[in-house]
Amino acid sequence: MATALYRKYRPLTFSDVIGQGHIVQTLSNAILNNRVGHAYLFTGPRGTGKTTMARIFARAVNCQNPKGADPCLECDVCKNITQGMSLDIFEIDAASNTGVDNIRELRENVKFPPSQAKFKVYIIDEVHMLSTGAFNALLKTLEEPPAHVIFILATTEIHKVPETIISRCQRYDFTRLSLEHIIEKLSTIAKNENVSIEKNALEMIAIASEGGMRDAESLLSQVMALEDKKITAKEVEEILGTTQRQSLE
Ligand SMILES: [Zn+2]
Repeated sequence: MATALYRKYRPLTFSDVIGQGHIVQTLSNAILNNRVGHAYLFTGPRGTGKTTMARIFARAVNCQNPKGADPCLECDVCKNITQGMSLDIFEIDAASNTGVDNIRELRENVKFPPSQAKFKVYIIDEVHMLSTGAFNALLKTLEEPPAHVIFILATTEIHKVPETIISRCQRYDFTRLSLEHIIEKLSTIAKNENVSIEKNALEMIAIASEGGMRDAESLLSQVMALEDKKITAKEVEEILGTTQRQSLE
């Protein structure tokens, strides 16, 4: 259920994103001014929306009927991307594709034009996990990317990414979300799910999640699993206590 809530309320457009305002602004401007780059680096703590932003950007640059900078979510390209069916969007988990062979394969793949979309977008998650050889191979592609390709590298550990890679990318630093932003999102979810939660209780969840929206949503799921339509601060306190004990074990 924890994952379900997170997926269900994942933002699909720039307008839906809560927080990271300067990043939304800069990426939107790039799209509106037709100045989309070929290599981006999203860095920041886990659960702050890096992959979500990458997917929104992938839709936005490829949407056939954009609303300002936002993707329409209704054209074939938007639909395919949202359903994970697009042949032009690649999500690569660097943690399980660390080797130079994986990147060589990718380098072959980037040469071919997109099948439906305007840009092929390669989202490489946890990019710091790549081996030195793989980074070197990737660097060659980043130095001369084909015009139809956009790379979005994401990492929680920027200090493990070689300077040569960083300098080839437009870098965006994602920050932990403020308590206000987390409470705002949790309130919306609770309202949508027809659950009432005391303000104090929401605050406690927001504090416990330490600025990570995904953790906040996961905690809210646990609380909602009580099947109580009116959740109190006391109940949340008990659940948080249990969670903290579990994470200590
Ligand atoms: Zn669209």
